[in-house]
Amino acid sequence: MTSAARPGKERLSEAAVLRLSLLLRSLAHLPTDGVETVSSKALAERFGMNAAQIRKDLAHLGEFGVRGVGYRVADLRARLGSILGLDRVRVVVIVGAGHLGQALADSGNFNGESFRVAALFDVDGRKVGGRSRTGVPILHVDELPRSVAELGAEIGVVTVPAGEAPRAARALADAGVRGVLNFAPATVGPFPAATVKNVDLTLFLESLAVHLSAAG
Ligand code: NAD
Repeated sequence: MTSAARPGKERLSEAAVLRLSLLLRSLAHLPTDGVETVSSKALAERFGMNAAQIRKDLAHLGEFGVRGVGYRVADLRARLGSILGLDRVRVVVIVGAGHLGQALADSGNFNGESFRVAALFDVDGRKVGGRSRTGVPILHVDELPRSVAELGAEIGVVTVPAGEAPRAARALADAGVRGVLNFAPATVGPFPAATVKNVDLTLFLESLAVHLSAAG
């Protein structure tokens, strides 16, 4: 995630953006519990966070806490959603309709209040023209420029083999997406008009292995 730009304000650090995203996700559980206001202390206790850090992060968002009471949950969710750019649905397209690409296209996490996968792209003639399990269409990668414009896609996900990833990412950037999420173990970009984020779950496995080794 990149730092969030807010007109007239300093940029939020990447770490703060991550904490605020986690906080927003946690808040999604509160209203159904009948909780209308919440203090930073209660938030911290409930979600295993640090109260001082929560207050500091939320102070960046302006004055909207109620002294002695805390924050109205609905206001807090709306403000966080707006700051993090999650207050509207962004269209996502995925290049590489293999195991990972189709799993992501069908996952609830990629199809919720903030994101929707509109299409998969591939070069395999056996897949093109078909659909994922939940019905996301699989189109030929040559259709990327037209489809990205038509669908208004802002984010492109790369789930092709590593050797194809730089080309797939460039095709997405050239087609006009503003964010590229790359799952392939390859260097892609940089691009002048699209931010690149890389996901490598293997690194987490390796870090677990280090902990396990240290623990004996
Ligand atoms: P897969 O072989 O099941 O799928 C790859 C798909 O890409 C195939 O459908 C293939 O036809 C398509 N493809 C190949 N070249 C293409 C191109 N130029 N344009 C469009 N489509 C093209 O592979 P998978 O298991 O889904 O893995 C996909 C990628 O994700 C690999 O690079 C893999 O290393 C990576 N991966 C990353 C993580 C992670 O943690 N980041 C985890 C699993 C897999």
